[in-house]
Amino acid sequence: ASVEPLYRRVMLKISGEALMGDQGFGLHPPTVERIAREVKSVRDLGVEICMVIGGGNIFRGLQGSAQGMERTTADYMGMLATVMNALAMQSALEGLGVFTRVISAIRMDEVAEPYIRRRAVRHLEKGRVCIFAAGTGNPYFTTDTAATLRASEMNCEAIFKGTKVDGVYDKDPKKHADAKRYDAVSYDEVLAQHLGVMDASAIALARENDLPIIVFSLDEPGGFKGILAGQGTYTKVG
Ligand code: UDP
Repeated sequence: ASVEPLYRRVMLKISGEALMGDQGFGLHPPTVERIAREVKSVRDLGVEICMVIGGGNIFRGLQGSAQGMERTTADYMGMLATVMNALAMQSALEGLGVFTRVISAIRMDEVAEPYIRRRAVRHLEKGRVCIFAAGTGNPYFTTDTAATLRASEMNCEAIFKGTKVDGVYDKDPKKHADAKRYDAVSYDEVLAQHLGVMDASAIALARENDLPIIVFSLDEPGGFKGILAGQGTYTKVG
C-alpha cells in the first residue's frame, strides 16, 4: 500500500548555500541534482511542492551594503541571485522528469512567470513544483520571509526548512557536544531564545498564520521523504 503523506502541500525552503556543496561560492551541479532527487521523491508521494531558494551562495544584500553599496540596490542583486538558483533547480528537476515553474516576484517575463496567486495554485493542483524566485520582491526582506509569505498564500500545510542539522538545538550542535535537540518548540520560544530557525519577521508571520515549520537535515539522504512518510528526526516549530 502507498503511504499517506503527513501533508498534502508543503513549502521547502533551502538556503542558497545548500546548493554550493563544498565550494565556497556558487552552484555545485551534483549537489543541486541531489536535492532535486529529494524533491522528486516527495513529489512521487503525491505531495504538492512549493520551493524558495535563498541567494547567499551568490550574493547577500548585507554583504554588498557593508562594502559601501546602496542597501536597496544590493538587496535587488540578492533577489536576482535567487533567480539564478531557481533556474538551476528547475533545470535539475526537469532533468529528472519533474514538471516545474519558476515564478518571479520581480517581472522578467522572458525568464520566469510573474507571480499571480491563482495561477500558481493551479500549477500546484496540476502537480507542478513551483519555485518562487526573487524573494518577496522587496528590499529589507529575506527569503525566509518570502517562503513564509508564499506558503501562506498557497495554503501550504507546513514549511520544511532544510538545514545542515536535524532540527533546532538549544545551542550550536556543531560546536557543543551537549547541545539538545527540541522535538517541538513554540514560535515564542524561538523568538525569545533567539533560536536561529528563521529571522524574526518570518517566525512572526508563520505564527500569525499558524503555519508549522519543520526543521530537518538536508544532508540526510531520504530525509525529506522520510518525514512526510512519518519517520525521521526533526523539530516542529509551531
Ligand atoms: N532579498 C531581498 N528581499 C527578499 C528576499 C531576499 O532583498 O524578499 C535579498 C537580500 O539581499 C538577501 C538576498 O536577497 O540577502 C539573498 O537572500 P537570503 O539572504 O535570504 O538567502 P539565503 O541566506 O537563504 O541563502
